[in-house]
Amino acid sequence: MFPNPQALSQAALDHYVHSNTDLDKHRQTGSMLMVEGDGVRVKDAQGRSYIEGVAALWCAGLGFNEPRLADAAARQMRRLSYYHNFAAKSADVPVALAERLAEMAPGDLNRVMFATSGSEANDTAVKLAWYYHNALGQPAKKKIIARRQAYHGVTVASGSMTQLAAINGGFDLPIDRFIHTDCPHYWRFAEPGESEADYATRLADSLERLILAEGPETIAAMIAEPMMGVGGVLFPPETYFPKIQSVLHKYDILLIADEVICGFGRLGTMFGSTYFGVTPDIMTLGKQITSAAFPLSAILMTDRVFDVIAAESGRRGTFGHGYTYAGHPVGAAVAMEVLDIYQERDILSHVRRMGRVLHDRLAALADHPLVGEVRGDGLVAAVQLVDDKAARCFFDPAQGVAKGVAAHLQENGVILRVLSNDSIAIAPPLIIGEHDLTLLLDRLESSLNWAARNLGRM
Ligand code: PMP
Repeated sequence: MFPNPQALSQAALDHYVHSNTDLDKHRQTGSMLMVEGDGVRVKDAQGRSYIEGVAALWCAGLGFNEPRLADAAARQMRRLSYYHNFAAKSADVPVALAERLAEMAPGDLNRVMFATSGSEANDTAVKLAWYYHNALGQPAKKKIIARRQAYHGVTVASGSMTQLAAINGGFDLPIDRFIHTDCPHYWRFAEPGESEADYATRLADSLERLILAEGPETIAAMIAEPMMGVGGVLFPPETYFPKIQSVLHKYDILLIADEVICGFGRLGTMFGSTYFGVTPDIMTLGKQITSAAFPLSAILMTDRVFDVIAAESGRRGTFGHGYTYAGHPVGAAVAMEVLDIYQERDILSHVRRMGRVLHDRLAALADHPLVGEVRGDGLVAAVQLVDDKAARCFFDPAQGVAKGVAAHLQENGVILRVLSNDSIAIAPPLIIGEHDLTLLLDRLESSLNWAARNLGRM
């Protein structure tokens, strides 16, 4: 079934089109192919083992070969390998999962739809917002506000909410109806001497100005990650969301919380919305919902939103949205098992405990000559590299400083991810233990020292 490593490498060069990759360069450099998982580690085709320090794409919460997930999937495949959820039919397990998610979610997010990816979940959330306002006789309410530096996916709508040059470039995104407000990164964007609270007020004022300039009657929803992941591991000031939410309420604009990364414990709370005291109208979930062992995402909406949508679908005779694989019984069975494991292992306490190990160590790294800011909480962090600490100046991107650090680290058996502006993300599987976490951090520090010596800063 598996060809030998050399044949595989050739096949990758000849046939495989990667995502988020310089496809031209790939013709020379080839692929790195993973063949096995072992807890928080993955092994490549050459037999080298790596600690996956970002849980692959912030998603493999239980690591890379949890046997209980294999058993859960196999059991469900033998029992009922597929059924759809159109026309009031469904498999049984996704219904049980919907009930469980409604119980776990904050507030009255009691109605659950499924999809298979974060992008699809966010596209669905946008369609729900449009359908909702149409139902209320507000058909002009169509625009969606996202934030600069946001990542919400890559489909046409979710890619239009994403605002990162590396992702949008060449695709003519965003399309109309999608606009962007400020990115809440205090360290980078606050005025000298401005307090966090004043900064949050300024961003809420700026949001209100945008809404008034566009016309509140044209705005359907705002989407926000509680903690911005791909955008840089950005934790907004404490008062940011309450201030933003009060502006949204004033103009009858729905809030969509994108919990694709934050959901299921990443910040040491079950959801990022819980962490920041956000009460969204719609919440999207993905990634760690199945520990990435099966593609499954979910869209939760409040009773209020659902009631409006249900009444409208009654008038129309149907709610004309759905995917073949939405509410897949195998995905739902895997998700149920994942949620059992998170509960049995008290994953939130574990994340908070490991989070202290991570952040104590990173706090000490803040004095490193290349480090401008360390940020994060729970099991997510970013180390922001800077050319000039005092002036908070980034390196010239052409220097590829963070990429060099990540490549050196990879040589030393740790995979981390470089985000824009030379920040390095850390988000290991939630199950990582103190020994592996310390090993990861030791190696990160060595690679930073190596880079500092190369740049003559140490
Ligand atoms: N939202 C957020 C916050 C994400 O980080 C991602 C993926 N990194 C997505 C949505 C898109 O998810 P997917 O890749 O499953 O479409």
